[in-house]
Amino acid sequence: MSLVVMKFGGTSVGSIERIRNVARIIAKKKEAGHDVVVTVSAMAGETDRLIGLLKEVDENYSLREYDQIVSTGEQASSPLVAQTLITMGCPAVSLTGIQIGMETDGSHSKCRIMNIKGDRIRKELAEGKVCIVAGFQGYYPPTGDITTLGRGGSDTTAVAIAAALKADVCEIYTDVDGIYSGDPRVVRKAKKMDRVSYDEMLELASLGAKVLQSRSVEFGMNYGVDIMVLSSLEEKPGTLVTKEDDEMEQVIVRGVASDKNQAKLTIRNVPDKPGIAATIFSSLAEDAINVDVIVQDVSVEGNTDLSFTVAKTDLNRAMESCRKVSEQIGAGEVLTDEEVAKVSIVGVGMRSHAGVAAKMFKVLADNNINIIMITTSEIKVSCVVEEKYSELAVRVLHEAFVED
Ligand code: ASP
Ligand code: MG
Repeated sequence: MSLVVMKFGGTSVGSIERIRNVARIIAKKKEAGHDVVVTVSAMAGETDRLIGLLKEVDENYSLREYDQIVSTGEQASSPLVAQTLITMGCPAVSLTGIQIGMETDGSHSKCRIMNIKGDRIRKELAEGKVCIVAGFQGYYPPTGDITTLGRGGSDTTAVAIAAALKADVCEIYTDVDGIYSGDPRVVRKAKKMDRVSYDEMLELASLGAKVLQSRSVEFGMNYGVDIMVLSSLEEKPGTLVTKEDDEMEQVIVRGVASDKNQAKLTIRNVPDKPGIAATIFSSLAEDAINVDVIVQDVSVEGNTDLSFTVAKTDLNRAMESCRKVSEQIGAGEVLTDEEVAKVSIVGVGMRSHAGVAAKMFKVLADNNINIIMITTSEIKVSCVVEEKYSELAVRVLHEAFVED
């Protein structure tokens, strides 16, 4: 007999009707002879609703109270699923993060999992029940307080439980039927991938393919959990996120992604001497602003221009931070550009193939798309372009690299 962990997202449990559909999928798995552990998200929109209520009380709410309230979303959806199963004649029990011994650190609203005890789940499974675990939550043992894993955290709950119980597979059911080589709304010929490596998935996830929380993929990679992404609405094969193998290396570009949540800042006339970049980026780090692509121009008469991108949502704060530092270090004005997007090609095959970046630049040039900034990693090349060209860029790159 095998152990399967299944996860259903907010849309999949968004109404009682949908919950009945989910319960049928679960019951079928159980009838096929598997031990089944399920984690669920809150019903669609519920987490946002709860956060909205808390903000109405006080914009500067305490993160402890935030965790207390948002964790109730999953504490409501899990018994609804469990009761639906029981009513259908399938023994089930709902469990909260505390009840399954999901121990985390104490950082409220973005905690990290430290340990899962697992004995409660094992006991319930041994009694023939399906366990329906509230996703996204745990607790901090020294205080006993509830903690949550950050938005989208139920994915990580599922993968962590699969790792702790050494499950055979972790199935993530969602409202899309897998991971695509490009956004199907933009690229007509986007294809569903059968398999994608953890590394590729991490690059694609951080590039805006928001199917899985990145931390769940990291978890899967570290503990060797196979993650299957499938549709809860239609029965068809999904995409397996798994470890890299030789065959994957044959494919140079697995996917093309774009991220419009990018804005560019340029600090003019930065004195070109040791320690300056450290000062600028430390100041941004202190303000918890993540910096993405960085370009420093060639120095002219001891001064250089320094450009980098941040999330659009962080632009105002980043600008303030840069203006302050610029004054301190005697640099010039701070310029911003919100109309940029980052377009990337991703694939583990790039490790063993030359000329991939050159081809990307050529394809963009042939389509008159100007490249503003470039960054690369072992398995990714990203170009910052004018936002209005982002869709065109994705389409032509997909055509050049993925379509055959
Ligand atoms: N309910 C939480 C959220 O909306 C966690 C999750 O759905 O994974 O972010
Ligand atoms: Mg999600």
